[in-house]
Amino acid sequence: MIVNNEHIAKKIDSSQSFLIASHVRPDADAVGSLLGFGLALKQAGKQVQMVLEDGVGKYDYLPGSEFVVKKPSGDIEMIIVVDCSDPDRVGRVLDDFSQPDLVVDHHKTNLNFGKFNVVEPDQVAASAILFDYLPNWGLNIDAAVATCLLSGIIGDTIGFRTPNVNAAVLRKAAALMDLGASLTEIYRSELVLKSFEAVHYWGTGLNKVQRDNGMVWTSLTLEDREKSAYPGNDDADLVNVLSSVDGVAIALIFIEQSKNKVKVSWRARPGIDVSKIAFDFGGGGHAAAAGADIEGSLEEVQNRVIIETEKLLEEKNFSYNRN
Ligand code: 5GP
Ligand code: MN
Repeated sequence: MIVNNEHIAKKIDSSQSFLIASHVRPDADAVGSLLGFGLALKQAGKQVQMVLEDGVGKYDYLPGSEFVVKKPSGDIEMIIVVDCSDPDRVGRVLDDFSQPDLVVDHHKTNLNFGKFNVVEPDQVAASAILFDYLPNWGLNIDAAVATCLLSGIIGDTIGFRTPNVNAAVLRKAAALMDLGASLTEIYRSELVLKSFEAVHYWGTGLNKVQRDNGMVWTSLTLEDREKSAYPGNDDADLVNVLSSVDGVAIALIFIEQSKNKVKVSWRARPGIDVSKIAFDFGGGGHAAAAGADIEGSLEEVQNRVIIETEKLLEEKNFSYNRN
C-alpha cells in the first residue's frame, strides 16, 4: 500500500502530546510495538501516554513497561494505535477521543480505521513494520526500542516458526540485534519461562483436550483460572501447545471470560485460513492465527464454533484422522 511518509513524519514532528494504544489481553507484539514506538517518541522529546486497558501483564521485563497506564488523561495531539485490526480491540481506551491519526498493523482483517493507515498483512508483526518506518518518520531505534521490536517479532512468529518467516525477517532480527537487542534474553523471557501458575493452568486445559474431524481443542473456565491462581484472562499460550499436535488441521481454545462471553483462538496449518471465520464471529486475525470474543455460555460458543470450523474443513475436503 502507498503510505505518505512525509505527512506522517510532519504530523509526528508538529505534535507534542501522544497517546499510543494497543489491544486488550496484549501479546508480545502489542506491547513491543507500543513500547518501541513510545520510547522512540520519548527519546525525541515528546510527551507520550502508552495505554493498555489490561496493563503490560507478564511483559513487565521490557524496557519502558513502567510507563504503561491503563487509562489516558488530558489533551492529546496525536493518537496512534498499533497491532489492532479494529477500534473495538483497544477496549474503552479511545472512547473519549476522536478517530486515531495513525494505525500501524499487519492483520489482513484491518478496517483501516485511522486517518493514516500503515497496514501491511505480509509483515510478521506490527513491530516489524515499525522497524521499517520509524527512521522515515524521524525517529531513532536505540537498544531499548530494538529490544521491544525484536520482542514483538519473536512473539508473533513464535520464535521464527511461522510460515511467513523468510530471510528478510531474519535479516531484520539481525539488524535489531546489531542495534543492541539480545536474542537470548528475549527468547528466554518470552518463550521459555512460564510461571508455575501458568503451567498448572495448562494442566487443567490439557486434561480436557479433545480431537475430532481434523480439529483439536480444549477450554479453560473461570474456575480453572481461579484454581490455578493464573492472574491473566488469556490462555497462557496453551493454544501453541495444542497446535503442535500432529495430524490435525486446526487447533482451538475456548477461554471463559464471564458467564456470557468466551474468547476463542484458532490456529491453522499452512493452506487453511481461519481469519475469515474469526471475522464472521466478530473477531479477526491472520490466516494461521485468529481470535474472537463471542457472546454466549462456554458450551454454546464451543458448539457453534466447532460446527462452523468443521464446515470450513469440509469445504477444504480436509481428511486427517477422521474419527
Ligand atoms: P490470539 O488467538 O492469540 O488472541 O490472537 C491471534 C490473532 O488474532 C492475533 O493476531 C490477534 O490480534 C487476533 N485476534 C484475536 N482476538 C481477536 C479479536 O477479538 N478481534 C480481532 N479483530 N482480532 C483478534
Ligand atoms: Mn501482531
